[in-house]
Amino acid sequence: MNYYSLNHQSPITDFRNATIQGQAPDGGLYFPENIPQKGRDWIGNLKNISREEIAFQVIRPFTGNTIPEDILWKIVAETIDFPIPLKKIHDNYYSLELFHGPTLAFKDIGARFMSRCLGYFARERSEKVTVLVATSGDTGGAVASGFHNVEGVDVVILYPSGKVSSVQEKQLTTFGGNIHALEVNGNFDDCQQMVKQAFSDRALTEKIFLTSANSINVARWLPQQFYYFFALQQWTESEPPVISVPSGNFGNICAGIMAWKAGLPVKHFIAACNANDVVPKFMETGKYEPQKAVATISNAMDVGNPSNFVRILEIFQNQSTELKAIFSSHTTSDEQTKKLISDVFNQHSYLLDPHGAVGYDALHDWISGHPDEKGIVLETAHPIKFLDVVEPVIGQTIPVPESIAESMQKEKAATPVSNNYAALKEYLLSR
Ligand SMILES: *Cc1c(COP(=O)(O)O)cnc(C)c1O
Repeated sequence: MNYYSLNHQSPITDFRNATIQGQAPDGGLYFPENIPQKGRDWIGNLKNISREEIAFQVIRPFTGNTIPEDILWKIVAETIDFPIPLKKIHDNYYSLELFHGPTLAFKDIGARFMSRCLGYFARERSEKVTVLVATSGDTGGAVASGFHNVEGVDVVILYPSGKVSSVQEKQLTTFGGNIHALEVNGNFDDCQQMVKQAFSDRALTEKIFLTSANSINVARWLPQQFYYFFALQQWTESEPPVISVPSGNFGNICAGIMAWKAGLPVKHFIAACNANDVVPKFMETGKYEPQKAVATISNAMDVGNPSNFVRILEIFQNQSTELKAIFSSHTTSDEQTKKLISDVFNQHSYLLDPHGAVGYDALHDWISGHPDEKGIVLETAHPIKFLDVVEPVIGQTIPVPESIAESMQKEKAATPVSNNYAALKEYLLSR
């Protein structure tokens, strides 16, 4: 499989180079030359196939001959070695719980797959790779956990001091080993700016083999298809589901649409957004106008210019009629998000996190207009990650899951740096 740049000014390349580079040299996102089809028989038989086999069959055409089959199998098996259950909330509403991985968010899946691919490519080159990433919270933890102890890869994470939640900070700063946390005396934009400058500093990149673990990387984006197949594997209703995806950068929902294009039966996709409503506005007016991100309580979706939306347009070759037949979008206010967390908890004893609650609202709106349909909300994070929001709403404390209780006990280890590129460069060169 080859990948082309959506800016069309870079040569095509294979999965290996697309993963190592992250973004094409012309600044475009990589996109596969075709979407491999999964046969009707194979899909009809999902219930009798192991999760590892499903994931392996889904991703193999995309990695092509860049990773040997036995190694790819191992990578896939390690990526999904935690449960991804489909649970009924009530009546026509189901939740696909993507938060049982090590950092309790769906980003674990993409990060675990990408880290292992990059580890394999680094060993092949026998050159140390440094992954440099800026985080506003969730990405850093998933990347740290995914890359921890991956041989040949060093990880440097920049996070804004005092601006991530306590659980998130522990997840960033307690791994040790090949994971290095830089606590930047500034905000997320400063962190991102410093990282960007490092990538464009030729004097630095000639000395250190730097790469990013950004969510636009094909090795983070494509494995997100796995759990759409797992959802259908567990689906017992007669008609295909409507799937509501809490969306920020639109990588997750775009992976779902890829799975549907490959043949997975899905009735409709809904991009569930918070007040950051560039895509809902686009669906209404046909005008795509990037905005400055607005802060909300579902903060992992506070994105003013979703980078993966161009990939969705590419799937539909910019044909808006075809897009609208399978894809809708919806926005939800913070107030409504809190109300739903409370209502769903009180009426159905199911605790949604703020992102899942935005997804639930979008699905609810859809089902109100299509009462015969049944749907799935992708629950993208465990409510404990957002306890400051969730606990006051339900008036109860949430028990800390065992998987993070351990990191909560550990001492934070982070290097303080000031919010300028010189400080980052000095750190990178002095190691
Ligand atoms: C990153 C994130 C999202 C948004 O996912 P995209 O792929 O960027 O659309 C939603 N929910 C949570 C909890 C996240 O961490």
